[in-house]
Amino acid sequence: MSEFERISEHIYIMHAEEATDRPILAAVAGSSRTLLIDGGNSPAHAAAFREYLEREGVRSPDVLVLTHHHWDHSFGLAEWSLPAIAQRQTADILRGFAQLEWNEETVRRLAADGVLSERSAADMRKEYGEDLAGIRVEEPNIVFERFIDVHLGGLTCEIRFVGGDHSADSCIVFVKEEGTLFLGDALSPSVYGGPMKYTTGKFLALLDTIFAYGADVLVESHGRPASREEFYHDVRRYEQLARVVLRRGADRDAVERDLAAELGLTGAEALPEELREAVTYFMNGLSK
Ligand SMILES: [Zn+2]
Repeated sequence: MSEFERISEHIYIMHAEEATDRPILAAVAGSSRTLLIDGGNSPAHAAAFREYLEREGVRSPDVLVLTHHHWDHSFGLAEWSLPAIAQRQTADILRGFAQLEWNEETVRRLAADGVLSERSAADMRKEYGEDLAGIRVEEPNIVFERFIDVHLGGLTCEIRFVGGDHSADSCIVFVKEEGTLFLGDALSPSVYGGPMKYTTGKFLALLDTIFAYGADVLVESHGRPASREEFYHDVRRYEQLARVVLRRGADRDAVERDLAAELGLTGAEALPEELREAVTYFMNGLSK
């Protein structure tokens, strides 16, 4: 069931849907232009959001930006027929994808090569049907390296390349006048090409970059929009974990013990499951 929300005066979103890994799609509507953040994972996903925007009477999108190349954010791009902004690496990867003939065989091969994962392949089959017919990848046509600003009439969107563990091409989008920061999947662990991992240096550097915006609302693509307080409360534990890993290295028991102590818990057993999982990702990030 699709869920839509106007999260501020000028920002409309379609919430994430876990069933087929659909990320949040957003439309930022200025007085003269509308910018779309991410294209969706399929034509059906894109169409559902477009119909919502039409119902709401939002100016139809003029331009689109991709937060990174992953299929769930980019495979709906062709459905929009819009100028599309992307970081250079995103554009390069999608140019390669656009030249492939997409079918079960292709998806299997890419999953085996670590370009996709088995989980993505399974989600694609759910979104597109077993034969995967209907996948059509389009190449973005406005390419930037580090920063690009988009002026929408009374609103400025600052797009910034940040990279990180999840995907080396990750970008974030700050809607300045609304104090809203779209993080894409930048803060998530790596998902393709080996065990999921976080590296302490990349994770902490990214947090510094994010905190420096002082945003009021932060939006992660597969979560719910969060107030600054909610976001900081949530992310602080991961920040503490990263710092403990810096201190303790690969000694997992010591890491769990120290983190539990810092969080005021009685023992390593008491660490919440999501943090134990994150410890695993950080350990994976160390083993090289
Ligand atoms: Zn992603």
